[in-house]
Amino acid sequence: MRSSQTFHPPTRLLLGPGPSNADDRVLRAMSAPVVGYFDPVMLEIMADIQRLLQLVFGTAHKAFPISGTGTSGMEAALANLLEPGEPVAIGVNGFFGDRMRQVAERAGARPVVMEAEWGRPIEAEQVEDAFKREAGLQVVALVHAETSTGVLQPLEEIHEIVRSHDAFLLLDAVTSLGGHPVEVDRHGVDLCYSGTQKALSAPPGLAPIAVSPRTAARIRARRHPVQSFYLDLALFEQYWGTAKFYHHTPPVSFYYALLEALRIVEEEGLQARFDRHRQNQAALVAGLEAMGLQMHVAPAHRLWTLTTVRIPEAANDAAVRRRLLTEFGIEIGGGLGALLGKVWRIGLMGKNACPANVLLFLTALERVLQAEGVPCGSGTRAADHIYRKAGSPA
Ligand SMILES: *Cc1c(COP(=O)(O)O)cnc(C)c1O
Repeated sequence: MRSSQTFHPPTRLLLGPGPSNADDRVLRAMSAPVVGYFDPVMLEIMADIQRLLQLVFGTAHKAFPISGTGTSGMEAALANLLEPGEPVAIGVNGFFGDRMRQVAERAGARPVVMEAEWGRPIEAEQVEDAFKREAGLQVVALVHAETSTGVLQPLEEIHEIVRSHDAFLLLDAVTSLGGHPVEVDRHGVDLCYSGTQKALSAPPGLAPIAVSPRTAARIRARRHPVQSFYLDLALFEQYWGTAKFYHHTPPVSFYYALLEALRIVEEEGLQARFDRHRQNQAALVAGLEAMGLQMHVAPAHRLWTLTTVRIPEAANDAAVRRRLLTEFGIEIGGGLGALLGKVWRIGLMGKNACPANVLLFLTALERVLQAEGVPCGSGTRAADHIYRKAGSPA
């Protein structure tokens, strides 16, 4: 019965930790006819993607998408950069830092964990300590935007330390790319990966990655071949850039999607895009605080793309999220790991970071909390105040 019907998933407002809503232009681009992987048009598409990825990553060097979601970027980064038995310092202050640790372990490397509370960044001293603990340490891996906690990792001091030890800095920018400045060259990031379905407003399916020249040289000089054939960056590059050698079939429709998403970023301008994310997050936070809710992360370390707010004592976590979804079509995230049942995660990523969504969400949350018998104030006026102050009324 179902097979004869048109497939019709609902349109949700995705204000969780990702995926976020894809731009309509991106969805249309994806429906274009597929071309072959040696088609001259593919070369043009790949050149455009590379140029625009360099722009968003802030790099003059290699940037291309790995075929797979953000986690494939994580696997590729760790598997290519690390040799079996090698130590790697990993910042674990949330779910994705811990995932990095697991991936590094499976790649045969030896994680040296730098831990922080879920809601705090990794401190520069911890990185310095890791070098003292491990004489042969050459790789430091950090999560720029920890989507499980809402923390932005400062890099200024840390990249100086990594550089002073002539080591490599590996960065997870899945939730920052396209929403926060990710300055690969300026921060000496040697390998940086991201995903398409967060602040780039494309569907999940690709992991853009930026590779510094010294990383490329290190990969070429590996003693052991990369264990994964599919994620071997050297093999991947044989196709990428020349479209002359078959490695695996590139997900052509996703290349279309990424290209269109990146064009939208370029049209808006990076600085305008960052300002928009910052301003809408400020409005969201002002609204939530006016309602009487508490932020989980200190102001200095908050992400613009993802806000963690403490669940009020009287509220039923699952019931509130269910009502938001069924009554308003809004998805938000619950807590993960150490924050399970303690926070809600509200994403304002890519095109979703706009006054209409912030005001709708605050109204919806207020109504749901009141319907659930949880006392709370109203947040829209405080949010609107932020917009008026910035001269951009909703
Ligand atoms: C979402 C996310 C990932 C994983 O990406 P997938 O697309 O789910 O594979 C990795 N790191 C961070 C920080 C993320 O937010």
